[in-house]
Amino acid sequence: MNPPGESPAPGDRVGVYLCECHSSGLCDRFDFDDLAAFAEEFPETVLLRRDPKLCGEGSLQQLKDDIADHDLDRILLATCAPDKHLEEFREAAGEAGINRYLVNAVNIREQISSIHEGDPAKARAKARDQFAMGMADILATRASSKVYALVDETRCSGCEICYTVCDKDTISMVPDPYGQVKNVAYIDPEKCWGCGVCVTSCPVDAMDMTVYSNDQMEAQLQAFLDRISPDRTNALVFACHWCAYQAADAAGAAGIPIDPDFRIIRTLCSGRVDPNWVLKAVSRGADGVLLMGGKPTKCHFKSGNLRTMTRMKLIKLLLDQMGLDGHRFRVEWVNPEEPEAYAQVVNEFISDLRQLGPNPLMSRDTDYSHAKYKG
Ligand code: SF4
Ligand code: SF4
Repeated sequence: MNPPGESPAPGDRVGVYLCECHSSGLCDRFDFDDLAAFAEEFPETVLLRRDPKLCGEGSLQQLKDDIADHDLDRILLATCAPDKHLEEFREAAGEAGINRYLVNAVNIREQISSIHEGDPAKARAKARDQFAMGMADILATRASSKVYALVDETRCSGCEICYTVCDKDTISMVPDPYGQVKNVAYIDPEKCWGCGVCVTSCPVDAMDMTVYSNDQMEAQLQAFLDRISPDRTNALVFACHWCAYQAADAAGAAGIPIDPDFRIIRTLCSGRVDPNWVLKAVSRGADGVLLMGGKPTKCHFKSGNLRTMTRMKLIKLLLDQMGLDGHRFRVEWVNPEEPEAYAQVVNEFISDLRQLGPNPLMSRDTDYSHAKYKG
């Protein structure tokens, strides 16, 4: 029997922590006032705390006190790269009773302030969009003990595709407890490393993840779509945590200027990206989608990127069939130590989208009033 995987959803009382990072010099031109005002527009924000240096002395104790004093259920940091301090905040929140995955971060430093310094207006708009996507993500997150794949046995057809694609030897086929089919997939949570390659391979949508779940990913995508603007190129980048996102953070740390007209969704592996998300994004108004992972032989999860490569070839054909240009979707590979290559790929992609022009499904007359949070 597969483990239940999900815990009851806690409430939606979010504590937002905005790090103003005054010691780094990287954020000198960033409009913290605007992002703070925007964060307070969300009804779920019950506490907004601005901190000149969130990684400084006393911040973790402040967080614990806030959780108790304001009865917080979730924490959203607007701060630097998640690899830097997120873990410390998760541990502190855990000591105060909040599950670690209900604490997450929007990277406004390496991903925004230090790479878009030359265009404060666009940096401001991007910070708002990434914050809205981060809020959508944290609100869709459930408490969990670790990241692992889940199987809904009532939907599993026993096709064994997940069993075939798993590089970690984590999946076994076991007798169906409901007797509908011969065997169903069983995931060993202890062995699973959470790449999510199996989830996007399942032909009957019988799989999900405890964290980086379908709900979380789709909530971020929807928040992106809700905030599409006719005033800029709307590019969406999916970046795998271990390679492309590391390259992006390295670009930010080096202050390499990058075109600001893209928004980013982080996944653990490029193989976690569902082709349906790409099609949904482009068919609902994105000008283009760029999927980035590590180069062949460099994938943290062995062959997740190779499966992505194979799977995503069809997307271009489908976009062409839909009357959109297949060039609106691109798969690119960069390794963590290649920040210049990352910047070049993103800049070229956005430049190419401008050559293609706006998504033909959207017109200047499109009603954008469905956007939940404006500005
Ligand atoms: S998430 Fe990755 S490691 Fe876990 S069962 Fe699926 S393919 Fe295997
Ligand atoms: S891919 Fe889906 S349907 Fe096929 S065995 Fe795995 S969980 Fe079941």
